[in-house]
Amino acid sequence: MLRPKGCLSDLALLGGEPLFERPKSIGGLVRPDFERFMRYSSLFFDKRRYTNNGPVNRLLEQRLAEFHGAKHCITFASAFWALATTMRYLALPGRSEVIIPSLTYRRMAEIVVAAGLVPRYCDVDRLSLAETAATVRPCVNGDTALIVGVHPTVNCCDAHGLVDLGSEVGVPVMFDSVESVYETCGGKRVGSFDLAEGFSMHATKLINGFEGGYITTNSPELAEQLSLRRAFGFRDEDEIVALGFNAKLNEVHASMALASLDDVEAQVERNRGRYEAYHGRLAEVAGLALREFAEGERTSFKNIVVQMDDDWPLTRDLTIRLLVAEGALAKPYYSPALHTRRTSFETRFDALPVTEYLMDRLIWMPCGNQVSVADIGAIMDVLAFVSRHADAVRAHLEVQDRIA
Ligand SMILES: *Cc1c(COP(=O)(O)O)cnc(C)c1O
Repeated sequence: MLRPKGCLSDLALLGGEPLFERPKSIGGLVRPDFERFMRYSSLFFDKRRYTNNGPVNRLLEQRLAEFHGAKHCITFASAFWALATTMRYLALPGRSEVIIPSLTYRRMAEIVVAAGLVPRYCDVDRLSLAETAATVRPCVNGDTALIVGVHPTVNCCDAHGLVDLGSEVGVPVMFDSVESVYETCGGKRVGSFDLAEGFSMHATKLINGFEGGYITTNSPELAEQLSLRRAFGFRDEDEIVALGFNAKLNEVHASMALASLDDVEAQVERNRGRYEAYHGRLAEVAGLALREFAEGERTSFKNIVVQMDDDWPLTRDLTIRLLVAEGALAKPYYSPALHTRRTSFETRFDALPVTEYLMDRLIWMPCGNQVSVADIGAIMDVLAFVSRHADAVRAHLEVQDRIA
């Protein structure tokens, strides 16, 4: 039951009943057809081939390579290890810095550190929220080992521009394409760019394998090196030919990922409905703008990101507190920006003005499989209500905080 808010005390943060009994998150939590999951699972279970590049994993790699239009796909236990292993292999020897944006996935710096390298943060573009050749160029120096293009959650980064910059300055480029798994970038399928692109199959992503990740590439050499490195670096029984990890995808995760891949088109259609619901309602609310998906590109419509401007009467964090109390688990978008965190490892950066401007203005809204169009209507009703009564909401909260 969705309870509309008639007066201030109906707001959950002010003591009212929350809108949702079961919280609505930003994660996809795709639930593919169970029978399909079991059918894929039976391909390995009867043979007791539970892991180590079994039949389901090989089928998944083939299906994902086709899905992206790439020559090779190499799966991993997670995107974290897929990306770290690839960074370690591609980084120019004798150099230590990997350029990544600061306004990005929260564990991105740890991935670089796991690869034995040092994060160098670049700024992002104000319109795309992504790094561009122009924001990366000032970060390139004699110690630059690798440039990592990270696609933002809505639309793509300028992959072509980054690839051109990389060849101009003689530094390899790879991509974290996790959030753009379904997209095209300038008409070209993400995953079909030449070098290496990393993807996740974590339960919150578009393709749900419980956990998992993969790299697509057109390079047979890179594919071979990565498949060695995900499995200890063994070539034969006992011959170790590269420094490897144990980062293999197991067969049950591969089965789930295949069932989820079979459902991906239907999933995108459902996401489109959610996106359109947010789009229509956000157009009526002053001070909040939906980050719109690019027309003319293929997009998954998965992530709903809202940007506040100066007309929005509440702070970003209070807006999120109000929503979270209702069971609408909105989150600050990629916040705090990575360069503002204290870390136990070294990071390098210069001034990042656009990141600092954006980092307190973006909200990641509930989306994905657990959120219905009716839920979105109710969430938007709350936002419209608190924007009309912003002064009173703030005054009530001040009293509440004083009492506490
Ligand atoms: C989720 C995510 C990852 C990490 O994926 P895991 O499979 O959970 O390790 C990396 N990059 C981006 C952009 C992500 O959203």
